[in-house]
Amino acid sequence: MRLFWHRGDARTRDNAGLAAAARDGEVVPVFVYDADLLGTVGARQRAFFLRHVKRLEERYRELGSDLIVRAGDPEAVLVDLAAEYDAEAVFYNEQYRAARRNRQRAVEDALAGEGVDTDSRTDIVLVDPGRLEARYPNHSQFHGDWEAVPKRGPYAEPDAAALADVRDGKTVPEPDADIDLPDAGYEAARERFDEFLDYGITSYNDTRDDLARAVEAPTHAVSRMSPYLATGAIGVRELWAGASDVYDAVTGGERRNVDKYRYELSWREQMYHLLYYNPDLAVSNYKSFPNEIAWRDDDDAFEAWTRGETGYPLVDAGMRQLNEEGYIHNRPRQVVASFLTKHLLIDWRRGARYFTKQLIDHDYASNHGAWQWTASTGTDSVDVRIFDPVSQMSKYDDGARFVKAYVPELSDVPSGKVVDWPTLSRAEREELAPDYAHPIVDRNEGYERAQRVFEEALGKR
Ligand SMILES: Cc1cc2nc3c(=O)[nH]c(=O)nc-3n(C[C@H](O)[C@H](O)[C@H](O)COP(=O)(O)OP(=O)(O)OC[C@H]3O[C@@H](n4cnc5c(N)ncnc54)[C@H](O)[C@@H]3O)c2cc1C
Repeated sequence: MRLFWHRGDARTRDNAGLAAAARDGEVVPVFVYDADLLGTVGARQRAFFLRHVKRLEERYRELGSDLIVRAGDPEAVLVDLAAEYDAEAVFYNEQYRAARRNRQRAVEDALAGEGVDTDSRTDIVLVDPGRLEARYPNHSQFHGDWEAVPKRGPYAEPDAAALADVRDGKTVPEPDADIDLPDAGYEAARERFDEFLDYGITSYNDTRDDLARAVEAPTHAVSRMSPYLATGAIGVRELWAGASDVYDAVTGGERRNVDKYRYELSWREQMYHLLYYNPDLAVSNYKSFPNEIAWRDDDDAFEAWTRGETGYPLVDAGMRQLNEEGYIHNRPRQVVASFLTKHLLIDWRRGARYFTKQLIDHDYASNHGAWQWTASTGTDSVDVRIFDPVSQMSKYDDGARFVKAYVPELSDVPSGKVVDWPTLSRAEREELAPDYAHPIVDRNEGYERAQRVFEEALGKR
């Protein structure tokens, strides 16, 4: 008998560790409910994940087995369960966050002490970070090496015969039913992905930054798979295979669009690679600076940013999307992060912490890696990158469709004026939309201050 320890992977399909455990043995599936670990993410993501676990439990019951749920320290729980089921080995998937790796080591030691084997598999990523160089100067060089590694297809769901005929009366705590979330579980993830494959992927590159389309057809403009990937409801090999099948079936421009989607998945892979080699990615700057960055301690500005009341329409729309939906489109995600760390000069760690609590797609590696990239403390090869929130809006939301969907105070203002809002006179702004905020920082002064502070930190002034 083997135990399979479900960690962040609430699915039976395309699950590397589960498939390995079921290959030539009978498997008892286990989930260890760890309130401390789940307390590190926001209420929305916690509820979403627990709903996946409920679906997982139902799936095991359909297959004639059950998910054994226990609360407590994984090392103690797994030692007890290994004895109860007379298991010779415990299988699980590799995780990359330092706290989880430490926990895994404690489990391995405890089980070894009882003579139980452990077997851990690469599952979260397509390419095991240990197969690549430790450091790359930019994403294209990472991508070059990463692309050259052959990718395997999705793992099949284990046959019912490979799952132990067990019954368990215990379950996870009831997820908060009042939180509005996308449908949970593998089936819902797959359905959303199929819709994207049918209606979105062949135009992905052309429309992924079109914010009007993101409002009109949110799951066609981009895949919106991040909430499901981040909570382990679907496997990344399944997304890669789905995209690759379409890639093989189309030609020309459509093919380039599909390839861009696969390319975007390589960003996620790079973030895991970064975390693997830099366990303190969430706390320390990746890049070293000869001088300290003179971050500002400005609580009022930070609060205005969190509420979406900075007087920069695209920033405010992005923050309100985040607050309302627990999701934010990648374009405004970059713009709000740049605005906080550059125009407001507030430390990226503060922004990342706020995102962690709000996002349903919070992913420890991607969130911290991308915050660092945007803050110019990470892997970006440009020394100081500053997104101008006005030109970003003019380029990606010139009809103000996205902004007006989230900032009703601006609904009657002509779109050109919404784009130019931070540059209008105070009198004109008061005339056009008296209830909407004035800019909390001057656009040019904010830009120049950020440029100066970063150049000083880099020793270039
Ligand atoms: C400040 C900041 C914080 C972020 N935090 C997270 C996070 O916590 N979780 C998260 O999944 N993504 C994060 N991202 C990356 C990106 O914004 C989201 O992955 C993307 O918006 C998710 O929407 P989608 O699934 O529709 O993306 P699509 O456009 O459909 O992209 C497909 C997939 O590619 C991956 N991907 C694309 N871009 C990136 C990227 N830059 N970094 C990592 N993966 C990427 C994601 O897995 C995504 O699901 C962050 C980006 C920024 C700038």
